[in-house]
Amino acid sequence: MVKAILMGAWSGAVLFSLAVGADVGPLLAVGGLAVLVELLTGGRLLDRKFTILSGNSDSGRAKALSFADIGGQQVAVRELVEALEFIKNERSAVRMGIRPLRGILLAGPPGTGKTLLARAAASYTQAVFLSASGSDFIEMYAGVGAKRVRDLFASARAAAASQGSRTAVIFIDEIDVLGAVRGRHASHMEYDQTLNQLLVEMDGLSAVRDDVRVLVIAATNRVDLLDPALLRPGRFDRIVSVDLPDAQGRLEILRIHTARKPLANDVDLAKVAREAYGFSGAHLESLANEAAILALRAGRNIITSEDFSEAMEKVIMGERIQRKPDDEQLMRVAVHELGHAVVSEVLEPGSVASVTVAGRGKALGYVRHSPRSDLSLETRGQIERRICVLVAGVVSERLILGEGSTGASQDISQALDAARLIVKCGLSDAGIVSEDDMPKERYHEIIAGLVKAGQERAASIISARRDQIVRMAEFLCREERMDGESFRAELCQAA
Ligand code: ATP
Repeated sequence: MVKAILMGAWSGAVLFSLAVGADVGPLLAVGGLAVLVELLTGGRLLDRKFTILSGNSDSGRAKALSFADIGGQQVAVRELVEALEFIKNERSAVRMGIRPLRGILLAGPPGTGKTLLARAAASYTQAVFLSASGSDFIEMYAGVGAKRVRDLFASARAAAASQGSRTAVIFIDEIDVLGAVRGRHASHMEYDQTLNQLLVEMDGLSAVRDDVRVLVIAATNRVDLLDPALLRPGRFDRIVSVDLPDAQGRLEILRIHTARKPLANDVDLAKVAREAYGFSGAHLESLANEAAILALRAGRNIITSEDFSEAMEKVIMGERIQRKPDDEQLMRVAVHELGHAVVSEVLEPGSVASVTVAGRGKALGYVRHSPRSDLSLETRGQIERRICVLVAGVVSERLILGEGSTGASQDISQALDAARLIVKCGLSDAGIVSEDDMPKERYHEIIAGLVKAGQERAASIISARRDQIVRMAEFLCREERMDGESFRAELCQAA
């Protein structure tokens, strides 16, 4: 629109200058410059279209989605629905003198369903719904971002008015891109202007028409980066935390994503959910998809539990490495991984889901654990057991093959981090101390002591099961993989 007006004005000026015999050189130069800038910015400088998704028609790219399609986020859904009720039942909110909410911030790690929640909110409210991403507002030219913010709110109000609705919902994904603390960016004037404009719009100060209310739903993975002005009550009134799902949540999400997939009787989704510790909704969707692809590749029309195991390894570790190590290295990888697995199983029976020596991604082999419960707090004893399992790989190599290898570097750095965590949380023998104020020698002594204790404990567990480890390592070199049940059966066998 703006572009069309400017072009019309420019053409008129050129024609007029020609008619009166004036010099058109400067006008042509200005026109040429404008064309160049438009070409360089891909035509994005002035006009920006935002996706308008109407809640009623749910047109555009989003297909109708309801809160029932979102698993494991009951708390987030409840909070969101409660906030949206004020929009749906405006009269009762007005009766109670409730100020309508202006903003809801969905905060949480990637892939947990924030965009899904916003889309479900659109269907739920039947309000006019516009979607944009933080990066849509970022441009190197001064004032463009602020203009886009103004356009977005104006479009929302106009779209709502044209549909006879009193409410519009604007969804801004990755709000941290435009809502970061002011004064931080190198080209901070432009960023700051954009954010200021958003604050103004959210306050409703620039609204020409105040008969349409705009609710902003924004999503971010980084609340810590946001400007405090954005987070103060009256702007984003609610911060809804959208966390990684727990085991029950993972089961719900798996059920949603396998609802239309043919599953074999041996598939226990609750077990898959338990083993998928730390997976986000996006991981779980990918897991169900990969399992179906594997079944299809194998020429089966039904997805088995084996497909889920293989898919889980693929989602965690990446695609299989085609290059196979030589026999000696393969034996070393097997002995290393079995060291981790045996110590883990002895310290926490039932904790091993599978042991593999087929390389994937950057790993030559790995042990997949099936955690008993979703831990959010760890005691000193639990961290010490973690250290013991981490160093068990290299301990096993030393005891069975005579020396360790560089394959343990990652394990060692994780074990050292875990030991530092013990000191940092005041769980070490030094008590509650500041790591920074502690004499360096004392600090090293405590860290080294914790790791050494883990090594000694691992060594005693491995030495007592040396023959089983050698036998299982030979099996792994032949078969590549052992599931948790066969591993436990082998471990229980007499040497
Ligand atoms: P990001 O922060 O990276 O933008 P997000 O939190 O917005 O991620 P979504 O885009 O909503 O994540 O989710 C990506 C995909 O993962 C969805 O299309 C869906 O298939 C799946 N998914 C994520 N969370 C859930 C959930 N809670 N229930 C069902 N499916 C989910």
